[in-house]
Amino acid sequence: MLSLIAKAAIVQKLSKPQPTKPDFDALSPDLQWQIVRSRERAELLVQLGAIALVGILLTPMVVPQLNQHMDTVLHDGVKVKVGPITVWESEPVLEQMGVLPPTSLEPVEVGDEIGGFRVNSGYGMRIHPIYGDERMHNGVDLPTPTGTALYTPAARSSRVKVDCKDQPGGAGKYAEITSPDIPGKVFVAMHLSKCITGLHHGGAVIAATGNTGASTGPHLHWEQIDSATGQREHPQKGFLQWALTGQQPKTLEQINQGAVPLQSLIDDELLKCAIGNAEGTMHDDCSKNPAYFGHTDPGNGAANLGAFSYQHGASSPQEADAKQIERLRKAEQGIQQKAVEKFGQPLSQAALANALDLWNQAPLAGDDFVKHLRTADPSPQEIIDARSRSFVDPETGRLDAPGLGNSEENIRHDQTRRTDEVLEQVNP
Ligand SMILES: [Zn+2]
Repeated sequence: MLSLIAKAAIVQKLSKPQPTKPDFDALSPDLQWQIVRSRERAELLVQLGAIALVGILLTPMVVPQLNQHMDTVLHDGVKVKVGPITVWESEPVLEQMGVLPPTSLEPVEVGDEIGGFRVNSGYGMRIHPIYGDERMHNGVDLPTPTGTALYTPAARSSRVKVDCKDQPGGAGKYAEITSPDIPGKVFVAMHLSKCITGLHHGGAVIAATGNTGASTGPHLHWEQIDSATGQREHPQKGFLQWALTGQQPKTLEQINQGAVPLQSLIDDELLKCAIGNAEGTMHDDCSKNPAYFGHTDPGNGAANLGAFSYQHGASSPQEADAKQIERLRKAEQGIQQKAVEKFGQPLSQAALANALDLWNQAPLAGDDFVKHLRTADPSPQEIIDARSRSFVDPETGRLDAPGLGNSEENIRHDQTRRTDEVLEQVNP
């Protein structure tokens, strides 16, 4: 029989709360950061080991060009000390990892348009805009309206650490951005209006640009730092584009792969229904409205036929649709090519449907749509803004929409209505 004291001890032991494993998200950001880093380092080592093994096994079988390529890579590399061993690391590490296309590694220069904003001050020596003397400019400047979103420049699966700090007379509110998925780099964004300290996933909004600190107007000052040496380096286009758009610049291979299925984003039936709803030739359920079988354009008095209100002569609505689909598909190639050049990826389905509806309404405006977008996957409001701005003639700076009375209010009203109709079909 147990003594009362022993019993009490057992009861006490049983009622003691058992230690439970805390949820990852409940840990402090610093602890999460340490865990993520050590885990990813371990994964990287395993992956490198596997790659090395496969490489050794395949080496005798590979073609001479590849041998030559490896040779070049090794000889163009730089000596890097990792712990007690010295390894060769070739220069464009990110390019080889397939993280960014080669063009993304180019340095940001004055005049470049990145994420829809133009760089007006470059990296290097310059006359300081406030102090008037010649100084090193450690980053690049882009005028951006206060409140412009900044994203983490990393893939969605990544964890990115953001430290927000304040330097009232200089950098203002600024963010230091690091991620184990962007090895060797630290990014600094200055003069922010908002900044969110903590761990974020890739592509998350982490700050808003502003005009804090020593600044002559709302702008983003962006720096790239080599984390090994702590030295500022010439910022590269891809990271800045990623931070301003939230979208990963694609590698050339991905772009080329994307060139084939571009047409599959919207099939002919959806295209007819979406644009037909905006034109008033199709009902919400994609059945034909009487206007489908022929109507007169209220703007220019021309005879229209089919879903797209085709005006160039056809013997039946079906023939009119087939002819216009052919034209729209050609326009689509040009539009997506522009998107790939600007964003590194084609437009989203919603943006593409609106680009084509705009092109159907006014080809010149449709061709200008991408120019007025900030991202390949814009919000409905961004689509309406870009559609409306596309009616401004770039040569004269004036509205060119006689069918809408060249009135900004009419255009915006019309473009809002059409965007709503198209999105209702594309995102039901
Ligand atoms: Zn600056």
